Amino acid sequence: MPRGHLKSKKRPDDIKGTMKRIWSYLSVKKGLLSLVLLLVLMSSVFGLLGPYLTSVAIDDYLVKGDLNGLLPLLFVLIGIYFLQSIVTYLQNFWMIGIAQKTVLYMRKDLFHHFQRLPIPYFDKKTHGELMSRLTNDIENVSKTLNSSVIQIFSSVLTLIGTVAIMIWLSPLLTLITFTIIPLMFLGMKWITKRTGYYFKEQQRNLGTLNGVIEETISGQQIVKTFSQEERVKKQFAKESEELRKSGFWALTYSGFIPKLMNVLNNLSFVLIAAAGGWLALEGLVTIGVIVAFIQYSRQFTRPLNDLANQFNTILSAVAGAERVFVVLDEKEEQRDRNDATVLTDVVGHVSFRGVSFGYEKDQDTLKGITFSAQPGESVAIVGPTGAGKTTIVNLLMRFYEIDEGTIEIDGKEITSITRDSLRGNMGFVLQDTLLFEESILENIRYGRLEATDEEVRNAARIANAHSFISKLPNGYHTVLKQDGGGISHGQRQLLSIARAVLADPAILILDEATSSIDTRTEIQIQRALWKLMEGRTSFVIAHRLNTIQRADQILVLHQGEILEKGSHEELLKKDGFYKEMVISGIQENA
Ligand code: ADP
Repeated sequence: MPRGHLKSKKRPDDIKGTMKRIWSYLSVKKGLLSLVLLLVLMSSVFGLLGPYLTSVAIDDYLVKGDLNGLLPLLFVLIGIYFLQSIVTYLQNFWMIGIAQKTVLYMRKDLFHHFQRLPIPYFDKKTHGELMSRLTNDIENVSKTLNSSVIQIFSSVLTLIGTVAIMIWLSPLLTLITFTIIPLMFLGMKWITKRTGYYFKEQQRNLGTLNGVIEETISGQQIVKTFSQEERVKKQFAKESEELRKSGFWALTYSGFIPKLMNVLNNLSFVLIAAAGGWLALEGLVTIGVIVAFIQYSRQFTRPLNDLANQFNTILSAVAGAERVFVVLDEKEEQRDRNDATVLTDVVGHVSFRGVSFGYEKDQDTLKGITFSAQPGESVAIVGPTGAGKTTIVNLLMRFYEIDEGTIEIDGKEITSITRDSLRGNMGFVLQDTLLFEESILENIRYGRLEATDEEVRNAARIANAHSFISKLPNGYHTVLKQDGGGISHGQRQLLSIARAVLADPAILILDEATSSIDTRTEIQIQRALWKLMEGRTSFVIAHRLNTIQRADQILVLHQGEILEKGSHEELLKKDGFYKEMVISGIQENA
């Protein structure tokens, strides 16, 4: 086994802290939980009574040949075992209810938290990994809560009760039985140290593997386009192998526990039989006590065994819960300032002054960006890939917080405006149009939810989308596939434009498609876009020369800085970077 792994823990587990937080979820159902624990107490007492009554039956009745006295005692025993099963059933039934409620709350909290996490957080995590927290990790907590709470409580009670009765029956035999305890602890410590580590590894590897799978499935087209099948297969094989390894060791080590317990059980049986036999011959204990003792010694190792077993499941649940809590502890998107105002009646004046920003610390993605757009003006942002075009737009929408400078809309700093109203006043037409698995009508209506059907149709007309929609067999009621399948890329763009027309925002953000679209649709899209841009302040991440030419203002970005600024004619006269880009064909450079 690769022992070195044991030392490579990245951070110490806060088992106590995590348990406390699980408890805070469980405690919502405190009343029912108390009832369950009361039932566990009852079933433990019933379990303890059994062997004692057996010893009484042997010593007081069987040995003395008093069969008449024996019969009622037998009925009592049967009654006890019967009651015990009813109580056990009820406690399990209610506990499962509590457990499921608990994970329901946990799942809800996590899901809601996802909605409030800032965009930068999602940049760093794969979707699969985050999904794994919502599914596998929570499922792990659920499984453990279903069974472990009862098990632990019952084991502890049985353990205490058993030891007390054993001491009461015969302190000497108890002492002899206990000689195996140090052996047991040593064995257990050796095992659990390893199982705990590997269960955690297993959960982590499962998360990573999910990440790989999710990325590959959602990016299948890209994988195929770039013939990355082999690389993806290799990566999958590597992560699967890691998962197999950790799963193998986790299960192998935890499989040692019952074996160890079996050996120790047999050992204690031999000890009690030998020592008990000798003590009986000396007249120090009765036969009934020996029989009871053998049963109690089992009852004493079983809860220890259960506790050790539970320890593993609990470790894996705590590991799962910890991973959930780590996400829950991630800072939410900054709340709006207390004095934040709602942005209304936007005229469309936008200005950036000395804006600097880096996705990572000490990184300058944008440096001292300064420009202003008058109401109704169109601004084309051009520059090579990675120049920072998308970043400017991200900052304007306040997906990220700037490090220096100010961004203002109509003279109001965007940090003084509520995020909802800021984003609500902007319309987007992005390259990747997000379509939902609903009818075209509803998809366009996302632009403005209260719009009537007629308004939706009008918007589609302005966006040049009406004619293609009308030709579909189900027209506006055609239900789209989630990935937009069924209609072309260009048509999706038209729908997206229709959505923006319907929303009627004062400020527009457009990301011109780079993918090739047939000339006819292309012209339709451009015309629709120009119509849409009329009278609105618009920012276009532009790739096509005729879009750029028409812009009132062009920002030429290069490595996070504005290199040149002005209209097409002005920039051509400058004979600088822009002219070079135009000559070499903007599209290739963008
Ligand atoms: P453009 O849109 O001009 O192609 P971007 O604004 O997307 O460029 O990116 C500018 C720079 O910032 C690039 O170097 C890019 O690698 C980096 N970048 C973009 N998005 C992120 C992100 N989410 N996290 C870290 N770096 C990023």
